Parts: sequence; structure tokens; C-alpha cells
Amino acid sequence: MSPLELNLILLGPPGAGKGTQAERLREDFPLAYIATGDMLREARAQGTELGRKAQEYMERGDFVPDEVVIGIVLERLAADDARDGFLLDGFPRTVPQADALAAEMAELGRRITAVLLVEVSDEEIVKRVSGRRVSKAGRTYHVDYDPPKHPGRCDVDGTLLVQREDDKPDVVQARLRKYHEATAQLIDYYDAQGLLRRFDGARSPTEVHDHIRATLATLRLENEL
Ligand code: AMP
Repeated sequence: MSPLELNLILLGPPGAGKGTQAERLREDFPLAYIATGDMLREARAQGTELGRKAQEYMERGDFVPDEVVIGIVLERLAADDARDGFLLDGFPRTVPQADALAAEMAELGRRITAVLLVEVSDEEIVKRVSGRRVSKAGRTYHVDYDPPKHPGRCDVDGTLLVQREDDKPDVVQARLRKYHEATAQLIDYYDAQGLLRRFDGARSPTEVHDHIRATLATLRLENEL
């Protein structure tokens, strides 16, 4: 494996700003962005077999079964653009998913560089997520923190902004419960391997990004030594 290759996992509750950090990291490094939530939403929008399988789980805020998600991630990891580094967002969410990823990495002779945990309190998450609105093309706004110029309309293409079904308050609570239940184990899992790095997601996106970059720079130096 090239010492410069970055294989990263972003971990954090829904609404922690992982999408924003992912966008910025991809401006810094050539990383394939693999976001299982986006992939599943797209499959649903296209009405594929995968989308139909995922639908009922997603609407309840439940996890889609491991074998379904593992299948789509392993397939995606095999694509050309993921060979020089990737950024996983929303995967793994369970220990069996983490085990499947570890097995695939071992098979490919690669390894995870770091697991970036963006921490934010539940109270703040509910505030952030319940105000989140998205355009048809997936651009994200917030009614208070990042409002569009014209209420309810996307700045870029003017389409109507909507609330994701699973951003509604009851579903957010269910997603947070599920997140804590599952992620506590993943945090221990990656901490035990010395891969976990923690970031304070209550800080501004720029500060979080700066901290992540500093951490990655150190890791790269260590890897090159
Ligand atoms: P996200 O956009 O990452 O919050 O994902 C939205 C929804 O997709 C989740 O609430 C789950 O129903 C499903 N999902 C995404 N990634 C996974 C995963 N790794 N394992 C199981 N379900 C997932």
C-alpha cells in the first residue's frame, strides 16, 4: 500500500456535519466518497431492487440489513477511483459491517488509516437535523443556520426544498437511539486498534476541518517514517 494512501472512515451521529467535512476533505485529497445513506436514497429514488429492499427500514429509522449494505460497499470499494484512497460515511454502522470491511482490506493488502469520530450532543443534533432541508439535487440548507436566499427554494436551481422523511423529529430520535446503541461498540472496536481520532463537532466546520487535516498530516508523517 502506498504510504500516501488515505483510507478513512467518518463516524458521528446524523447531523454531526460529516457531509460537510467529507466535501472539504475531498477538496484536499483524491478520495472516493462512499456514503451508504446517499447510495441507498439514490437506489430508492430509482426504484431498484436494492431501493425496494431498503425502503421500509429507512422509513422507520432502522438499519438496513448488514448483508445488503456490505454488498454495496464492497462492490464500490472495488471501483477504480477507490484504489488510491476512500472516505466512508455512514459505514460501518455495526460490528459485522466493520468485520466485513476489515476482511476485505486484508484481502486487498490495504488498511484503514484512521477513523474520524465527530462528536456532537444529542440536543444539538435534534436542533440541527430538524431544521435541515434538502433540494432535489441533494443540496443541504438549514432554516436557521444556513437558510436559502428565498425561503423554501434552492439557491442554485430554484427547486422546492423539502425535509427528508427521516429528518422528522420522531425518526431523528429513533436514529439517535440506534446510533448510540451501535456506535458505542464501533468506537471501542476502532479504539482498541488505535485507529480512533476524536473531533469536537460543536466547533465551526472550518475548525473541525483544520483539526482533521492536522491529524491526517501527522498520520501521514508517521506512515512515511
Ligand atoms: P444516513 O444518510 O447515513 O443517515 O443514512 C440514512 C439511512 O440509510 C439510515 O437511517 C439507515 O436506514 C440506512 N443506512 C445507511 N447506511 C447504513 C449502514 N451502514 N447500515 C445500515 N443501514 C444504513
